[in-house]
Amino acid sequence: MNKIYPCVEIDLEKITHNAKIILDLCNKKQIVVAAVSKVFCASKHIAEAMLQAGVTGFADARISNLKKLKDLSCNKLMIRIPMISEAAEVVRYSDTSLNSELATIKALSLAAKELNKTHNIILMVDLGDLREGVLIKDVISTVEEIIKIDNIKLIGLGTNLTCYGGVIPDRENLGILIKLKSDLEKTFGITLPVVSGGNSSSLYMVMNDTMPEGINQLRIGESIVLGRETAYGVSVPNCYEDAFILKGEIIELKSKATIPTGNIGMDAFGNKPSFEDKGIRKRAIVAVGRQDIRLEGLTPVDTDIRIFGASSDHLILDVTDSKRELTVGDIVDFNIDYGCLLSAMTSSYVEKYYKNSKI
Ligand SMILES: *Cc1c(COP(=O)(O)O)cnc(C)c1O
Repeated sequence: MNKIYPCVEIDLEKITHNAKIILDLCNKKQIVVAAVSKVFCASKHIAEAMLQAGVTGFADARISNLKKLKDLSCNKLMIRIPMISEAAEVVRYSDTSLNSELATIKALSLAAKELNKTHNIILMVDLGDLREGVLIKDVISTVEEIIKIDNIKLIGLGTNLTCYGGVIPDRENLGILIKLKSDLEKTFGITLPVVSGGNSSSLYMVMNDTMPEGINQLRIGESIVLGRETAYGVSVPNCYEDAFILKGEIIELKSKATIPTGNIGMDAFGNKPSFEDKGIRKRAIVAVGRQDIRLEGLTPVDTDIRIFGASSDHLILDVTDSKRELTVGDIVDFNIDYGCLLSAMTSSYVEKYYKNSKI
């Protein structure tokens, strides 16, 4: 089969392996992992590879993604605070959603009533990162309202950190969440079985054994797919960091100067470019661009290749020092970071190929 480029090649065996390691790390600490599928647009192949590892539930920020997973028998968690306009779909395609607005929870209640269902809610608490969540001072009064709402079951508290404000999860902020949970259970005579302690940036506390007892769910995307925790960017031991490889084809290969000729105006993105004179270099143009990838997140697998820059559809490389005898039509491989993976998986111009499928 002739491959179409650019493409992302996805090694499903590596994903199953990574998922196993992370599940093992967390399960030992009585923490359930909700595998976050948004970065791979809820690809069924990747989800299946994670199920092979023992994943019991998926989490996604978009209902259209959860819909793709509707035939998989496992828990579904909606992790972006729902829009009121999508309440019916949220109830239909997820068992549980993260919430912070009473108006939305009331809309979910109506939708759940319609479908004769009970929808589970995890109330998000903002512990300082300033993205979603009710403020700590408002938790009690909000819960007092939620527990009166029909067809809605409050099953726990959650938080999200290191996303907007860059706040790192620690014993202090997560400790507040655990304390709130027990206060609420006492005040209202309810049980809140879930305390959802964050994303891949909370994993370091599992790795170094500082996760406070009481946190029993993490929502993990990046650590499974790219093998890194995200508070400090540390590799998770024994995980693969190259389960995803971006591949592009060389469409032009010529020796040219490093400084453009003529008066310099703006580049394709409205920036005034600057150049370092390195003399004449062998330059390869690869047919992939900013419409498909995040340039800053791209690292050539061949460490002798450097990136000059990219426009919408062209990626320009310095291949002068590469030991490979490159020619037009050759394929260049890249490792990709989270942001780049997100764009490549989302771009319909990037083909996806799966290898080492077990099913
Ligand atoms: C994206 C997201 C996650 C997963 O983040 P990773 O860094 O990929 O682990 C978890 N929770 C929420 C609310 C998210 O939006």
